[in-house]
Amino acid sequence: MVDNGPPTGPSIGAGMAPTGGTVLRAEAIEAGYGRVQVLWGAGLTVRPQESVVLLGANGAGKTTLLKVIVGLLPAWKGHVVLDPDDVTSWRTDRRVRRGMAYMSELGVFPGLSIEENLRVGGQFIDRSALRTRMDELFSYFPDLAARRSTLAGALSGGQRKMLGIAKALASSPRLLVMDEPSAGLSPLFVGQVIEVLGKFREQGLAMLIAEQNVAFLDLADRVFTLEGGRIRFEGTVAALEADDSLHKAYFGLS
Ligand code: ATP
Repeated sequence: MVDNGPPTGPSIGAGMAPTGGTVLRAEAIEAGYGRVQVLWGAGLTVRPQESVVLLGANGAGKTTLLKVIVGLLPAWKGHVVLDPDDVTSWRTDRRVRRGMAYMSELGVFPGLSIEENLRVGGQFIDRSALRTRMDELFSYFPDLAARRSTLAGALSGGQRKMLGIAKALASSPRLLVMDEPSAGLSPLFVGQVIEVLGKFREQGLAMLIAEQNVAFLDLADRVFTLEGGRIRFEGTVAALEADDSLHKAYFGLS
């Protein structure tokens, strides 16, 4: 196993006692690939209507933690609780049926049209509910509404990201889990993605957003930082900014 070195601070998630009032609880997760351990007791919580940002540099283990949370990678140790169920051993589709949605960095199927992507995203809800949901989503994403039969692969990077968000939301989830929504986007499109996510946040959608772009902290009710597969900090954006070493690590020396 790879030793990522000693923890750089308290591992908040390790041995976390059960707490009420959460949509999602990942507890003391250990996981990795083959014999390579990436997560070393990482844990986090998302409360109802809360927007949580998981901040970490390249290679910190954000994607790995998200994959364990959504069931694409098994946890070696620890638990994932999607209120009220311990879903640690559940397949991804079962978690999606219970209200979890996932947007990977890629996010869409390029060979399918905009409408087909939304149908895939909403495959577990009934037809009439999906029709209503799609109309609702198209009102948030007018550029997509105008091009329903266009292939996702023909869209610009920014539009593709919007489609990824819409596809994840097609199932009307209670928790949206997103892996680096800023990936591959120019600052202009990053701003647009943050704006549209802000609208869903206002409606009370619980979100977990893994990012290295601090612009996403505008959306954060709470922040967790991940370093070397361990949670180093949990708290508000103000508390993160007030901590000198974290401020230097994530906001530079200004
Ligand atoms: P990034 O922003 O670059 O995606 P991240 O914080 O999401 O970073 P992960 O993708 O979870 O980090 O990667 C954590 C560690 O696991 C890295 O050292 C990476 O090289 C390793 N890793 C990721 N995927 C695999 C894999 N399929 N097989 C082996 N090692 C992997």
